[in-house]
Amino acid sequence: LSPVPRDIEISRAQTPKAIDQLAQEIGLLQEETEAYGRTKAKVRLSLLDRLREQPDGKYVLVAGITPTPLGEGKSTVTIGLVQALTAHLKLNSFACLRQPSQGPTFGVKGGAAGGGYAQVIPMEEFNLHLTGDIHAISAANNLVAAAIDARMLHEATQTDKALYSRLVPSVNGVRCFSPIQVARLRRLGINETDPSALTPQEVSSFVRLDLDPAKVTWQRVVDTNDRFLRKITVGQANTEKGHMRETQFDIAVASEIMAILALTDGLGDMKTRLGRMVVGSSRSGQPVTAEDLGVSGALAVLMKDAIKPTLMQTLEGTPVFVHAGPFANIAHGNSSVLADKLALKLVGEDGFVVTEAGFGADIGMEKFFNIKCRSSGLRPNVVVLVATVRALKMHGGGPNVSHPSNLSLVAGGCSTNLKKQIEIAHLFGVPVVVALNVFKTDTQAEIDLVCRIAKESGASDAVPCHHWALGGRGSLDLAQAVKRASNQPNHFQFLYNQETPIVEKIRMIAQKVYGADDIKLSVEAQAKIDYYNQQGYGNLPICMAKTHLSLSHMPELKGVPTGFTLPIRDVRASVGAGFIYPLVGTMSTMPGLPTRPCFYDIDLDPVTEEISGLF
Ligand code: ADP
Repeated sequence: LSPVPRDIEISRAQTPKAIDQLAQEIGLLQEETEAYGRTKAKVRLSLLDRLREQPDGKYVLVAGITPTPLGEGKSTVTIGLVQALTAHLKLNSFACLRQPSQGPTFGVKGGAAGGGYAQVIPMEEFNLHLTGDIHAISAANNLVAAAIDARMLHEATQTDKALYSRLVPSVNGVRCFSPIQVARLRRLGINETDPSALTPQEVSSFVRLDLDPAKVTWQRVVDTNDRFLRKITVGQANTEKGHMRETQFDIAVASEIMAILALTDGLGDMKTRLGRMVVGSSRSGQPVTAEDLGVSGALAVLMKDAIKPTLMQTLEGTPVFVHAGPFANIAHGNSSVLADKLALKLVGEDGFVVTEAGFGADIGMEKFFNIKCRSSGLRPNVVVLVATVRALKMHGGGPNVSHPSNLSLVAGGCSTNLKKQIEIAHLFGVPVVVALNVFKTDTQAEIDLVCRIAKESGASDAVPCHHWALGGRGSLDLAQAVKRASNQPNHFQFLYNQETPIVEKIRMIAQKVYGADDIKLSVEAQAKIDYYNQQGYGNLPICMAKTHLSLSHMPELKGVPTGFTLPIRDVRASVGAGFIYPLVGTMSTMPGLPTRPCFYDIDLDPVTEEISGLF
C-alpha cells in the first residue's frame, strides 16, 4: 500500500499461520516444540542432537554503519532479506533476532520487530512479554541480589557455629552437605567426607563469604526505564538491624544472566556459567561467586525454559527465532548462539541464517566475531552492512536529520564512515555486501552514488533495498547478492588471540577498529586489569563499552575521526558470560523516560482486545 501504513496496522492486517503449521513446514517434530498460544513456540534443544549430522547452512551477519540515533534499519533489512530468500527465491532461511527490552518499547525507540512490510508478527507479542524470558532473567538476577544481602546480614549477626548448624542441617541426627556445598568445600581444599570433623578454622572459612559491602558488584534489575532506581539504599527496615547500603537497579537486559543466555550452548554450560558469575569480593580481595552463595542450581531452574529459542514468523510466513537481547554496550548485543546453531541445522546446507548484531559494525560486528563466534565456534560467510542516505549525509558533515538531496554530503559519508566499516569487516576476512536501506526521500542519483562508492571501497556488492515499502520482493537484489557472496572464498580470522594481554587486546580494538592513536588507562582501570590478571581472567575476550554514535568515544564526531586517544575509565569483568568490559566514558545501565514516552500512544480496545500505538 502507498503510503505505507503504520507498523501495527500492517502487522494486524496479516493473519499469522498457526505456529504448529510453521513448525511442521520447517521440519520440527511435534515433541520438539512447546506452543505459547497460537503464534509462538519454544523449540527444545534436543533438536540439536537429532540434527547433529546435518551440515550447517550459510551464516550471514547483518551489521551497520555508525547510525543516527533513529537506527538505520538493520532489523528491517534482516527480515526483508529472509522474506526475499524464502518467500521469493524459495531457499530455506531463518532470521535470528534479539528480544527487545520493554524499556525502549515504552520509552523512546519503540519496538524492534522490524518495520513496514518487513516485520515479525504479531509485533505486539514480539515487543512485549514474548515467552517470558526477560522475566525469568529478572527473577534469577534478583534472587542473586537477595541472596547477597541476606547472606551479609546473617554472617554479620551470627557466630560461626550458629551459621554452620543452619547451613549444614542434620538429617536423622547426621549433618550433611548439599552437592553445591561439597563443591565449595572442594574449592576451599577442605575434606568434606566427615562434616563433624571440620576444624574451627575450616568451619569459619566455609560459612563466611565475608563479602565486602563496598565491593558488591551485583545489582538488582527491572525491565523498565526507571531512572529513580539508578541509586537506591537497601536495608532500611528495622529488621535489617542497620545493615543499609547504597546500590542500584539496572535495566533487566543489562544483567549478566542475559549475556550468559546469549552465549551458552546448553543447559550444562549455562549452569556452569551461572555458578561462575562473580558478585563481588571478600574483605581479603577474593572473588565471591554465585556458586559460593549456593544459588547456581536455583538459577538454572529459573532459566530452564528461557534457554529454548522462541519460534515466530515474518509477515511473509518465513521462520524467525527470537532469543536473548543483551545490552549492546556493557554486553555484546547479539542474539543467542543457540538460536543460530538450531537455525543453521534447520535450513540445511543450501539454506541461509541471517542474524543481526546491535549498533554499528565497529561495536556489534566486532563483538559478534571476537566474542560470539569465539564462543560458538561458528564462522560467518557474509557480512551485510546496512547504510542509509540520511546517516551517510550526517557522516559527510550534514545534520543527523532528514536533509534535501545532497550528493556531496552523501559522497563524504561514503568515503569516510562506510569505507571504514567495510574495512573493519575485511579485517576479519569476510566478504561484505552493502545494503542501502532506501527511504522514500532518497533520490536515484544518491542511491547510485552510494552503490558505486561502496563497490570502489571493497564491498563485493552494493544494492538498494526496498523491503520496508515492498516486503521481500523489495530485497530480491540483496538476496541474490548475498547468495553470490556466500560462495566467495572466506578467510575468517579473529582480531586478536585470547592469550594476548588485556591491555594489548584493548589497544588492538582501539587502533585497528576505531582508528585511535592509542589508549589511555585510568589508574583505576590499570588496577582492575592487574587484579583480573592475578585472578586468572586475563585470557577472556574484550567487550568494549563505547558509544555507538561515533567510531571514537565522542558521539559528536562523525565520519572517521582521527588523532584521538581512547580513554579507558574503568574495567569490569563478566566472568560467567566470559568477557572483560572496559568502560570508555560513562555508560548508563538504566535508561530514563523522556517527558513524552511512547506509552502515551499505547492503548487497548477492551472490546476487540486490539492494541494500538506500538511501532
Ligand atoms: P535498527 O535495527 O538498525 O535499529 P530498525 O530496523 O529497527 O533499525 O529501524 C528503525 C526504525 O526505522 C523502525 O521504526 C523502522 O520501521 C524504520 N525504518 C527502517 N527502514 C525504513 C525505511 N526504509 N523507510 C522508513 N522507515 C524505516
